[in-house]
Amino acid sequence: MTAASSLNVDLHCHSAVSDGVLTPADIAARAHANGVQVWALTDHDELLGLSLAGATARALGMRFIPGVEISVTWANQTVHILGLNIDPDNAALRAGLAVVRAGRIKRAKEIATRLDALGMTGSLEGVLPYVSNPELISRTHFARFMVKQGYCKTMQAVFDKYLGDGKPASVRVQWASLEEAVAWVTNAGGRAAIAHPGRYAYSSTQYGALFDQFKQMGGEGIEVITGSHTVAQYSQYAQIARNYGFLASRGSDFHSPGESRIDLGCLPALPSDLKPIWHDWV
Ligand code: AMP
Ligand code: MN
Ligand code: MN
Ligand code: MN
Repeated sequence: MTAASSLNVDLHCHSAVSDGVLTPADIAARAHANGVQVWALTDHDELLGLSLAGATARALGMRFIPGVEISVTWANQTVHILGLNIDPDNAALRAGLAVVRAGRIKRAKEIATRLDALGMTGSLEGVLPYVSNPELISRTHFARFMVKQGYCKTMQAVFDKYLGDGKPASVRVQWASLEEAVAWVTNAGGRAAIAHPGRYAYSSTQYGALFDQFKQMGGEGIEVITGSHTVAQYSQYAQIARNYGFLASRGSDFHSPGESRIDLGCLPALPSDLKPIWHDWV
């Protein structure tokens, strides 16, 4: 085992700056308490939490990796691209993410209109207490509101019945293109990785095209060990990493204590033959 692969590394999680519930400082403290040694905050489409998260992480003795999870539309579906070890001050990255965030405000209004029509009224106002960054309204916030109102028992049920892709209150968004997202990340000095590749509804032909195009655009990594994968998918995407020569990432995708299946830092190690995406950062 190399030194890099024996570290407890968690390169995917969310603060209240996007759709997590803890502040950037509190999530840094939780990562540290859970034994994380190398840690990235990767809020959706937003860099606002990075300076506080980084300051807190460093004060606690963790190595901090500035990150972001970018919403992308590829082949009519949403794909999440992680940007890891980015320069948060990069102007093109910041400008690109601002455009992506603008699409969320419009979508939130349309989601609320659909929920109104389904008899679940008042969600546009009702969701606000769950949102701490007005530029970053997520389906997750709507789901929390709907569970609290008693419309569904669980967040999963909200997505299954109403907010999941293709469900009655889901609204299609044109996010960034794959090419834009990879360019923003690489031009900001970072590495792009496909988040939770097992979670998409692509055909095997489409998956192959996604991996080929991503690699050709300069994408370097995929998440192998993530809170969104089953144990079988750990092996499946480890093999994809080998086949395509991708660097491998590991991240909990932690959102909140009550909701996330896997806590910060509480994941199996990467298979030891894979090259960690953090290999030359530590
Ligand atoms: P958005 O980026 O606003 O479209 O919201 C996507 C977010 O919803 C993801 O980042 C997850 O946090 C959450 N999400 C998606 N699917 C589910 C699900 N089935 N159960 C719970 N949360 C989900
Ligand atoms: Mn999320
Ligand atoms: Mn994601
Ligand atoms: Mn995530």
